[in-house]
Amino acid sequence: MKRIGAHVSASGGVENAPLNAEKIGASAFGLFVKNQRRWEAKPLSKKSITEFKKNCEKVGIDTDFILPHDGYLINLGHPDREALTKSRDAFIDEMKRCHQLQLKLLNFHPGSHLNKISPEECLGLIAESINLVHEAVPEVIAVIENTAGQGTNLGFEFEQLAAIINQVNDKSRVGVCLDTCHTFVAGYDLSTAKACDTTFEQFSSIIGFNYLKGMHLNDTKKELGSRVDRHQSLGKGKLGLEVFKYIMNDERFEEIPMILETVDETIWDLEIQMLLDMIED
Ligand SMILES: [Zn+2]
Ligand SMILES: [Zn+2]
Repeated sequence: MKRIGAHVSASGGVENAPLNAEKIGASAFGLFVKNQRRWEAKPLSKKSITEFKKNCEKVGIDTDFILPHDGYLINLGHPDREALTKSRDAFIDEMKRCHQLQLKLLNFHPGSHLNKISPEECLGLIAESINLVHEAVPEVIAVIENTAGQGTNLGFEFEQLAAIINQVNDKSRVGVCLDTCHTFVAGYDLSTAKACDTTFEQFSSIIGFNYLKGMHLNDTKKELGSRVDRHQSLGKGKLGLEVFKYIMNDERFEEIPMILETVDETIWDLEIQMLLDMIED
């Protein structure tokens, strides 16, 4: 089954996120488990945790299909020791929050070398970060999101994601989230069914679909290979709808959270319905 949702608001408390997902007809959702623009946050209250679980049950969304996203300040490949430690501590805090909420996944942007170390060194630091996080928090899977490759962000080539995974000790607790916008602007064509065949075949041979734990479904305002990250509503950008029809009818994308991060949240309900309507029986 296809599990489709959007990155919904958790404003007023994480317990509101499942209710916001229900309003748009979602069977999956993404959320932030703390304010994404700050380092510090109050611990989750017992009430929030209980209500979150209750509301997930009420709206019938299993925690398998919830894909939280980490904060924007975290850089698990930071070249400076002090900043790296700060990022690792913040990520561990987010993993703990996920564990408290019985969430199984935490999606994150791998990291940036900031032109101070080589990409290889940076990928090594990211893998080391994941290993440390695994020691600090049980169960939760660290889900590496492929990036657009803007600035010095790594993780835009499948080989870079594979290089991180190769250096992670517990491979059962590392995965990948493919963002359709990021994939395309990073230079992997997805604009036709044939291009999708080629790109997903590359993904399969370099990383493997066993590592695919989620998808971010976005169209893009920017061109193939531009390495600029600007999301667009489905069908209104350079990607077009072909890739979404392809994904909706491909078994490799079953039973994973597929999350919209498109720009107009007032049409998320319509985008979800459109995706469901694309499924041919
Ligand atoms: Zn994304
Ligand atoms: Zn993006």
